[in-house]
Amino acid sequence: MEFKPIISAAAAWDVEPNLGDYTTVRTNFSWEKIRRELDFLPNGKGINIAHEAVDRHANGPRADHLALRWLGKDGDVHDFSYGDLKAQSNRFANVLRKLGIQKGERVFVLCGRIPELYISALGTWKNGSVFCPLFSAFGPEPIFQRMNRGDSRILVTTQKLYTKKIAHQHEALPHLKYVLLADVDDHVSETVLSWHKLVENASPFFEIPATDGEDMATLHFTSGTTGMPKGAIHVHNAVQVHFMTAKYALDLHPDDVFWCTADPGWVTGTSYGIIAPLTLGVTNIVDEAEFDAQRWFQIIEEQKVNVWYTAPTAIRRLMRLEFDPLKEFDLSHLRFVASVGEPLNPEAVVWGQETLHLTIHDNWWQTETGGIMIANFASSEVRPGSMGRPLPGIEAAIVHRVSKDKVEIINKAGADGELALKPGWPSMFRGYLHESERYNKCFVDGWYISGDLAMCDEDGYFWFVGRADDIIKTAGHMVGPFEVESALMEHPAVAEAGVIGVPNEVIGQLVKAFVSLKPGYEPSDKLKMQLIGFGRQKLGSAVAPKEIEFEQNLPKTRSGKIMRRLLKARELGLPEGDISTLEADS
Ligand code: ATP
Ligand code: MG
Repeated sequence: MEFKPIISAAAAWDVEPNLGDYTTVRTNFSWEKIRRELDFLPNGKGINIAHEAVDRHANGPRADHLALRWLGKDGDVHDFSYGDLKAQSNRFANVLRKLGIQKGERVFVLCGRIPELYISALGTWKNGSVFCPLFSAFGPEPIFQRMNRGDSRILVTTQKLYTKKIAHQHEALPHLKYVLLADVDDHVSETVLSWHKLVENASPFFEIPATDGEDMATLHFTSGTTGMPKGAIHVHNAVQVHFMTAKYALDLHPDDVFWCTADPGWVTGTSYGIIAPLTLGVTNIVDEAEFDAQRWFQIIEEQKVNVWYTAPTAIRRLMRLEFDPLKEFDLSHLRFVASVGEPLNPEAVVWGQETLHLTIHDNWWQTETGGIMIANFASSEVRPGSMGRPLPGIEAAIVHRVSKDKVEIINKAGADGELALKPGWPSMFRGYLHESERYNKCFVDGWYISGDLAMCDEDGYFWFVGRADDIIKTAGHMVGPFEVESALMEHPAVAEAGVIGVPNEVIGQLVKAFVSLKPGYEPSDKLKMQLIGFGRQKLGSAVAPKEIEFEQNLPKTRSGKIMRRLLKARELGLPEGDISTLEADS
């Protein structure tokens, strides 16, 4: 199918998009101007994420504005104004100070999306310490691995998680001084303490110490889609990108209600589930519960969500639904929808148009980039299947490596190559923890090489081709799994697809697709043949999958990315490698 460009709906909105004319804003952009829109610590004491996210609003007219609304999975609701968040995070910063946790020391947080997580994150940044979030569903080994590699000084968690996953290995973590339990009223021992008791007894006043923009603020482990997760180091200067992208890529306006569905265990849940919306002073919704279509639409309706940031995996799950959301829910406040984490199949954009009457705006970034780098904007045409165009202040290019330390920029529209970014944006990672060689290898000839393959069209829109590791070489062709997966998803029976190359003596690699089916369809040889025929018709026989296997539970990371390396390892009977981020039921 030819997917037609979608004209921006922004003209009909009652707010003007923040980014008007793309070229003009890009041309006039400078980071200096962004810095002027931020507040900075008083008396020239530098820049601190928590000050920009919370205190500067709490110190002004937005003090009573609803900053964070927490929706508990059992129906509880907790509201925090900017003033409340300031006081609570001050208390936590005082707790850290009292416990002797120093600047640069790592504060790990292992819990679900509970209010204590958000307060701990903000208090950690205030104290100059480093926030390091972990998915609560990680098993004991991945937790140990990360805490050990990250020299964890203190851990915020719950009693249940502590008992089940940490207690037996506490002694083996030599740097770990304290564990703070978010769900006990009293201290358990001299080192296992009650979060609430400490916080309630701490002062709500705290002066953020001088913070250099280059001080380490956050340690984020990558998703582990392609191998062992890497610990990406981020600094306080990153908040410039969070602010700029909240404004331009997510189009947040001061009175908006924003909902990012990601867990802070994944970088999206920290950069956009905590920092970015708060820097613009909006209301940020946090839902403790896991994905549930009815609940999600209900939240959008009841909380009057205006801007919604989610992921392709969730959108594909919504696409399987057998009810019409617009008939059952009032989604009329929803203005802007964005997606990140995996390629957004054009079919999903069409679904958004037809089912929600909204355009889903894909954007691209990585743990390493710290913030959104390429996006579809509210004011621009959307080309289904494209990630959009680079943000103001971001220079992206398609490059080929000509030698170990030389790259060539590909100016030809439509030619694919490695997606590279010009270093210098403020949220760029400053290292992989304890892996400096690996970090250095990411930079070649003045470019940061992302590890993704893409192409750029004549109007500067970037199109994802695949991860460099996932590219399939078949009969002299280079095939990106995304293209094949997207084509298969156009078939009415297909809910999701993961495509790999299986070694083959004759053609190098054979394209094989693992397919999950929509409700109402049953696996059969006949359907297999139909899908193979459908693929050929869409893609041509060179690129189309030659083998199809039905697999209702495609292996995915906890952040919802299909793990093609696992499909491949399982297919070939090879070791599965690091599976710490694998979702439990896959
Ligand atoms: P690891 O680096 O450990 O293998 P990961 O790359 O999945 O894991 P993240 O940093 O969470 O870890 O994900 C970034 C990657 O996700 C990108 O490099 C890209 O491959 C993919 N991605 C993110 N957004 C998009 C998008 N809009 N379109 C296509 N791919 C995307
Ligand atoms: Mg990666």
